[in-house]
Amino acid sequence: MSNDPSVFCFSGSEYIETLLARNRAWAQRLSTDRPGLFPALAESQHPQILWIGCSDSRVPETSLLDLLPGEVFVHRNIANVLPNGDLSSLSVIQYAIEKLEVRHIIVCGHHNCGGVLAALGDKKLGLIDNWIKNIRDVRAKHKAELDTIDNPQEQCSRLVELNVIAQVHNLKRMANVQKAIKRGVQVHGLVYGVGTGRAEILEIPRDPDAESYVIKATPE
Ligand SMILES: [Zn+2]
Repeated sequence: MSNDPSVFCFSGSEYIETLLARNRAWAQRLSTDRPGLFPALAESQHPQILWIGCSDSRVPETSLLDLLPGEVFVHRNIANVLPNGDLSSLSVIQYAIEKLEVRHIIVCGHHNCGGVLAALGDKKLGLIDNWIKNIRDVRAKHKAELDTIDNPQEQCSRLVELNVIAQVHNLKRMANVQKAIKRGVQVHGLVYGVGTGRAEILEIPRDPDAESYVIKATPE
């Protein structure tokens, strides 16, 4: 097997065996570095973070936060949205808050997000349009501002940010999240650069209809 992580064989019957060999090597490495980790994880989990992110393969929360198994509870979907009545995300949020008692909830969008790019276009995509509609609603709300941005990549980045802000506000409208915030749970909005590997904090305006916000520089 090549040591170059960019070289994978995506076809052929050996592919799953290759993955399993990588899994065993990873488990061995981690068992050596952290001898008590796997036995402790077999007993329970105590993550401090609920991560709500995009399904995009370039945004692996555990890797980019440099965390270990057991440190982050995760919900990912296309373009990190929290639609009304979505049982999957609502169940994850309830479990994370009420059972795991996480201390931080992070909503993370990312630049070059395919779901956001799709929402900026009007092309019919089939079933997925029902999901993309959640982002198109954010786009519609901020149409006047987005129309002033000529550069397509900048327009995408702005909608990525507006979408994170919208989803943080959706989160904060939930009764169980409001109770959790009163107990001291913190809610954060992040934007991740797939081309840099760096996440930035979005300062979320209190007013869900506010147009302006600032991006805090990540501490060095
Ligand atoms: Zn995405």
